[in-house]
Formats: sequence, structure tokens, C-alpha cells
Amino acid sequence: MKLTKYLAELSEEKRITLLGNDTQDPLHSAFSTKRVVHAGLLGEPIAGSQYQKKYYESIQKKTDADGKHAIYIHIPFCQTKCLYCGFYQNASRQEVEDRYLENLLTEIKAEANSPQLKGTPIDCVFIGGGTPTSLSVDNVARLLQTIQQSFCLTADCEVTLEGRIHDLLPEKIETWLQFGVNRISFGVQSFDTTLRRRIGRIDSREEVLKRLQLVKRYDVTVIVDLIYGLPGQTMDLWLEDVRTLFEADVDGMDLYQLNIFPGGALAKAVQNGTVPPCADIAGQADMYIAARDYLLEAGVERLSLCHWRRSSRERSLYNTLAKAGASVYAFGCGAGGHFGDISWMNQRDLAAYNESVAKGDKPLMMAARQVGPQMRQIADEIIGNLEKGYVDFRHLLTTDSRLSELETVLALWQERGLVEKDLGVYRLTPAGEFWYVSLTQSLLECVQVVMTSSAAAPAEDINGHASDALDEVLAEMLPQSTQESRQALMGKIPTAVRMMLRRSSKESLQSMLAGMPPAMREKMFSRASG
Ligand code: SF4
Repeated sequence: MKLTKYLAELSEEKRITLLGNDTQDPLHSAFSTKRVVHAGLLGEPIAGSQYQKKYYESIQKKTDADGKHAIYIHIPFCQTKCLYCGFYQNASRQEVEDRYLENLLTEIKAEANSPQLKGTPIDCVFIGGGTPTSLSVDNVARLLQTIQQSFCLTADCEVTLEGRIHDLLPEKIETWLQFGVNRISFGVQSFDTTLRRRIGRIDSREEVLKRLQLVKRYDVTVIVDLIYGLPGQTMDLWLEDVRTLFEADVDGMDLYQLNIFPGGALAKAVQNGTVPPCADIAGQADMYIAARDYLLEAGVERLSLCHWRRSSRERSLYNTLAKAGASVYAFGCGAGGHFGDISWMNQRDLAAYNESVAKGDKPLMMAARQVGPQMRQIADEIIGNLEKGYVDFRHLLTTDSRLSELETVLALWQERGLVEKDLGVYRLTPAGEFWYVSLTQSLLECVQVVMTSSAAAPAEDINGHASDALDEVLAEMLPQSTQESRQALMGKIPTAVRMMLRRSSKESLQSMLAGMPPAMREKMFSRASG
């Protein structure tokens, strides 16, 4: 049994990272921390010198007409930086936004007529950020028109704009709707004025509620996100937020767990005492259960473990399709996508992005060959199932009988109170629901062990420690660095990129880092030169 042998040979520490703790209290301590921000399998990185060639070969191939297709557009600007945010890129400035928009439109138009995209039915468009609602009326109108003219949007295409309540002004809302937006997703995070100001949000509770009432007058699906575990947020404050959102009666609600990035602004502010501490992982677990029970009791429908809907016009198509293996064509500074056998991320640095588009290149920061089609199908099924709270083990076995080995792990989690078996389907218990991202990541890694010849070591936890191979390569390239400074560097790299780096062999890392544009490499390495 390949998996049993693999688990037996792992060090105690790595086995605990992968399978969790042996505990009588699974809700509070099944794992020591959330393993990753989003679960997923990453393929083999492509050498920097090959990015462009590989991307253009892929975009020149005809798409799979039967599949689902999504467009993702990234707007990397925010008016202010929220304290907890790991995704902030640039401050909003009109002239910078104008220049970016020109480049973004150039990038979109350069690919709209490619064999991969021409005539391809697009099921959903997601304009995320950053703060897309902060775009000026002229710029957002041009962007939305370009999307409509460049792509073949289906008749019921979901077009989402992400943003902040602060931008809800009639002139803006009318422009968004006039040019095709039919879903708006707001990061409210908390309704409590003191808490909002503490994390860098602008409007008071009263203003947020007033603006939500305003947008509800329009024919558009409205989604609101809340976060639990914020600094100084008590259980009472959290439940008050959930109640307020329920009473606001919007179409959809996302309840997210706060991620605290080591070395990030929030971690430092807590350390310095400038903000009160955040709930620990056990406190977050209690908040998850309290909100879950409240909404289930109130009869709210659950579309996934963290997404709830109150009206049937909320479909959450982008989130569902992107995680179920749809092709995602991505544009903009910091955007990432995947189709065919390639996945990639665009430059996150605005100057590097602008420069690359001006040269006529796809502004790639890194690219990888996706895992093969069978692995992808299995991974998509596991991710899609667990997002909804179960693993259909009977069905998995029909895909490949080797997957029967996974039962060792599922049985262990059953013993520990994370899943329950029901006629060949493993359902998450409430404790398992709280830990579903870690469970998904671990199960995917076990699938990789079972299905491939080279078993991957357990990947990182959210603390982002460097893998042995990555640390070795960085040490060779940065002789002045210390392990501590290399660790600090890891903390600055976006999680998705870091995960890709961590799972790569020493050879691919060497070739990828050597192939990075010199300016980017210098910028990255200057942070770790000790
Ligand atoms: S608005 Fe969103 S992307 Fe911008 S800093 Fe706040 S949380 Fe981050």
C-alpha cells in the first residue's frame, strides 16, 4: 500500500502537518493552524525563459467547446489599505489608474481573437481586486464595454464587480448596470464602527446600512462578506454582525475566517499593542459554529461551507466554476488563471506589468504546467465536494480504484470526529467543516502520493516556512542571507506563488529563479539579502 508506506516513513512532524493532531477536541485542535489559504494542487513550474513561448502555444490552441469558461480581471488599486489585507497592491491615483487601464485593455484585446478565446462562450466574468468599484465612471465604462465587445458572453453570463460600500454612488451604480454588471460583491467585514475604523474601513455602521439600502433599489444581485476573528472582535460583536447582515436581507453572504499573515501589518499591530489581539484558532472555530447555527436555524440556504444565499438570483457561478475546473482566462496586474495544461500568474508589480504589456508580451510573473487531466478531474471533484461538506468516496472509486487507499486517512479522520461515514459518502462534522480547507489540502496531497510516482512532501502551513529545496536554492543565490532573512522573504511572497515554489524540485527552482526578469529578481532578493 503506497500511501500507508508513505505515511509510515514521514517524520512525526510532517505526519501531523498532513493528517492533523490526535485529539479529543477536533473543533479546537484538529490541526495546529489552517494549512493553506486555498486548497489546490499545483503543477510543475516552467522555467522563466519558457513562459512566453508556453503561454502563446496554449492560447493558440482551440478551446474545449464543452467546458465552462470564465474571465477574471484584476484591478490592483485601493483607496486605503486594510490592516488585515495580504492582497493590497497600490494606492488609487487617477493618472496611475488611467495608464493602467490603457494597458489592461491592450492585454485583453491582444488575446480576444486568439483561437482559445474567439467565439468561446463565457459563462461568468469576475472583476476583482483591489477595489474595482473605485474605478472612475469613464474607466469602468470603457473596461465593461471592452469586455462585452471582446468576448462572447452567454445570455445569462454572471458579471460580478467586487468592491467597497464607500463607492456606492448612484452615478457609479448606474454605469455598472448600464454596461452589464449584474452582481456586486462588497467586503463589509464588520458593521461595528469602532472595529471597522480599527481595520482601516472608512464608513460608519449607519453609512454602510444606508448605502446597502440604496443599492438594493437597483436590479442587481448584492453579496456581502464578513470576517470573523478580527482584532478585538468578541463573540457578541460577531453575532451582532451576523444578525445585522441577516436583517439587511441581501442576496448572498460570505463568512470568512481571518487569515493572519506572519510579519504582516496586522500581526505587527497586535504585537505592538496598537490593536487588541485577534481570536485564536479555537476562538475562530467557536465563531464559525455560532454563525453557522444561527443561519441554519434561520433557514438560510447554504451554497457552500462559507457562502449562504437568501434569494435564488444568487448563483455564485464564478466561485463554483473556477473551483470545478472551468478555464479561467485572466487579465491585469496580479491576476492568475488556468486553461488547457497551463496555469500562471501575471506580474504583481505595477511597473513590471506596464512595461511588459508595452513590449507586447503577456505580463507573466510565473507559469506552471498543470497536473494531468485525470489528476485534475479528481482534484476538482474533491475540492467541489468538500466545499459543500462531503467526499463522495463511492464515486471517487469509480474514477480510479487506486483511490481506495484514501480510506486509511478518511477512517482516521472519522475516528477523530472530523467526518462521518454514510453509505460510502464521508460527511464533514461541524468540526470538520471548520477545518475543511486543511482537510481538502491534505486529501489532495494523499491523492498525489497514490496516483503519481514521485510523492510530494506535505506542503506548507499558512506560516509559509520555506521547503528544504527552496531554502537551499535561495541560500546559494543569496550568500549574504540568513535563514531568518530568507524566512522573512517567504512571508512577503503571495501564498499561491509560495506554494508553487515550495512544491518544486531544486532543478526547476534554479531554472525558474534564474529566468526571472532581472528587476523583479533584484527586488525580491533585496528583501532577503540579510
Ligand atoms: S480593499 Fe480589499 S484589497 Fe484593498 S486593502 Fe482592503 S481588503 Fe485589501
